[in-house]
Amino acid sequence: MSTLFGMRVLRTLEAALVVAMAFALAACTGGSAGVGGPRPPISSPLYGGGDVVWPVRARTTPAPPAFGAVVTDAPAPLTNGRALQAGLTLPIVGGTPDSPEVMTPCARIVRLLGSGFTTIAAATRAEKIVVVDAGHGGIDHGATAPDGTRESLRNLQVAELVRDDLQGSVGRVVMTRTTDRVTQLRFRTALADALNASFAISIHFNASPDGYSTHPGTTTFGSVEDPNGRRAAGVLFEAERSYLDTLSPILHGRWASYADSGALYRLGSRGDFYFQLRESHVTWVINEAMFISNEPESRLLARADVRAGLASAIATGVKRYLGSDVSGSGWRTPIPRGDPKAAADPPCSDPYV
Ligand SMILES: [Zn+2]
Repeated sequence: MSTLFGMRVLRTLEAALVVAMAFALAACTGGSAGVGGPRPPISSPLYGGGDVVWPVRARTTPAPPAFGAVVTDAPAPLTNGRALQAGLTLPIVGGTPDSPEVMTPCARIVRLLGSGFTTIAAATRAEKIVVVDAGHGGIDHGATAPDGTRESLRNLQVAELVRDDLQGSVGRVVMTRTTDRVTQLRFRTALADALNASFAISIHFNASPDGYSTHPGTTTFGSVEDPNGRRAAGVLFEAERSYLDTLSPILHGRWASYADSGALYRLGSRGDFYFQLRESHVTWVINEAMFISNEPESRLLARADVRAGLASAIATGVKRYLGSDVSGSGWRTPIPRGDPKAAADPPCSDPYV
């Protein structure tokens, strides 16, 4: 926002946020049981919101078969005469074990001829899979920092750190992209579904805040069609806020924020607004830890130690979600934001040799 009117809206929102957050703080710190009283449970929510009603909707589509995925370990020839580059992880959607049909990052279905790949089995009860999804990529670069740094770069940097942290402690970890390339949402969703992943997280950084706050504007989105959506959003929110709160003294109350930042659901005309939340049968969280469009926050994100700290917090949240019954916290009733016109899919070139 750059108009005078915009500035006035920002200041009003800022005041409202500070007042609202002062109340939230009072609610969280009040009501102590006193010496000798009952001790609070260890999982006592840090950020409140336990009274927020999370809508529950039935998923109407059946889950696709979990055929697993392939990793191209060399140029992989296709039945159409072309070959896919090495280093891709692609969901299997049909075909045979020797000649599977896979979905490409541009969401096209192609068939492998039989060489240049190895197969990854879908998750089993004994071995979990976590999908780490770096948002955007290529010409679809997402938001932009004031110095021109693209959100897609920061997403990938943090996603790689999350992967490294999780590897070895939660079973297998699969990335939806490891390079700066356009990757369709349908592909990201199909990969998580084909692997029957236990959890998937889509890492983003935000833009277009409603105003400023003394607290981080961390927002995590969970699904209303997934019985685990509320808890997943709350556990990730709590883990990230616990870390980002330690950086507040640097920001001097200039965190960008939504008026309703928190662990949220977001509805569109067809149910969950976000594609992965609406279309996948895996528990996803769409993760917006910070606002990259806010100059002080973009400077924090340029620091390797902050990216490492945030990635560690995200990984802690994933491990807590998968390995315990903690509830999380920080749910807010979302401000209805309508159903903006869907952006056209960006031009997408598949990674052929
Ligand atoms: Zn984004």
